[in-house]
Amino acid sequence: MSTSVTCDVLPEGVLSVEQAQERILDGITAITEIELVDLKQAHGRILAEDLQADFDVPPHCNSSMDGYAFAHQSLTTHTNLTQIGISWAGRPYLGTVQLGECVRIMTGACLPAGTDTVEMQENAEKLGEQIIMHSSPKLGENVRYPGDDLKQGETILTNGRKLTAADIGLIASLGKSHINVLRKPRIAFLSTGDELKLAGMPLAWGEIYDSNRYTLNALLQNLPVDILDLGIIPDQAEAVEQAFLQAKAQSDLLITSGGVSVGDADFVASTLSRLGQVNFWKMAMKPGKPLTHGRLGNCLFFGLPGNPVSVMATFLLFARPAILKLAGHIVTQPVTYTAKTLTPLKKTPGRKDFQRGIYTSTERGYEVKTTGKQESHLLRSMSQANCFIVLERAWGDLEAGTQVQILPFDNLV
Ligand code: AMP
Ligand code: MG
Repeated sequence: MSTSVTCDVLPEGVLSVEQAQERILDGITAITEIELVDLKQAHGRILAEDLQADFDVPPHCNSSMDGYAFAHQSLTTHTNLTQIGISWAGRPYLGTVQLGECVRIMTGACLPAGTDTVEMQENAEKLGEQIIMHSSPKLGENVRYPGDDLKQGETILTNGRKLTAADIGLIASLGKSHINVLRKPRIAFLSTGDELKLAGMPLAWGEIYDSNRYTLNALLQNLPVDILDLGIIPDQAEAVEQAFLQAKAQSDLLITSGGVSVGDADFVASTLSRLGQVNFWKMAMKPGKPLTHGRLGNCLFFGLPGNPVSVMATFLLFARPAILKLAGHIVTQPVTYTAKTLTPLKKTPGRKDFQRGIYTSTERGYEVKTTGKQESHLLRSMSQANCFIVLERAWGDLEAGTQVQILPFDNLV
């Protein structure tokens, strides 16, 4: 149980996580441009046409077993059938089978003219060219019919569908090598900060390596997007402006990290308001309180905080659903589960916490423990965690044994 519960009213001008998510998604419409892509590149893409079957799949009557094909009527007059040939998959038997005759047939091979039934080889005995039937198969047994899978003229996949591996195979079974999908959004991203150094360069006093751009790059690789890495931008109005203009011209969405608090070196919001529109949102969430959101012309904008944990949390909760909607995906809230915390959890009432946790699935249900310290510069806490522990705004410290909600990273990345 929560040990201290405060009134659940947000301060003036502060948004709840859900309100911010809703506002962001309301302002986004999916990309409409279409491109023709090789089917091999289409996995996970959004189909931009209705697809019809131009012909039946399978296209011909064929056998579902290795065995013998014959006319069912033969069984009224014959117990033995004379084998007159073989029908291979891809090399059909071209003759006509008469009553009292059969052909050896392989799985997937066409049923020859005159046949309508297949006896599986396990139920038949071969004596020279004579095939002795040990059972009485039903008419049509072990036969697969044209259109069993896809019927000619049928719509098999509709516009807006996110293509799965099975869908790709289905389209391939119709002989199509290219299909129309929505263009991928182009996502630009950059890091701001005079203290940031490129990996591989020596560090001077006061400098740190830029980790956020690597994290963002990795997170973006899990999404259906093209990426444009704009590098490290120093804390200078002109440099920030140049980068923003490039993103505006070349991308659908820009993500920045750092430079969004009210420090003297924070040029992100001021540049955005000069070149586009800005919403500077305070959110009742921890980590990642300030989020700058807006647009540069047609380019959407997310100014994430600088601290590495805040970058990941705000990306996953706000930028990721926005990108998915932009790409034409149906966006749903990620699934959370109830888990019992095995460790006490420290929390200050007033903000919704996304603490880092390690959960396990046990026969008693989900159990979770904290990764320890929760400050937003401790990226290792994200690396050790496999879920967020989501703690409601009004809650205070929690004792071990309390039921909490967990949001597994697997449902997010
Ligand atoms: P800022 O929002 O720019 O004031 O940055 C907040 C904190 O995050 C500071 O400690 C920054 O040094 C740190 N930070 C900002 N950008 C990065 C980055 N790209 N990689 C690692 N740490 C960063
Ligand atoms: Mg900074």
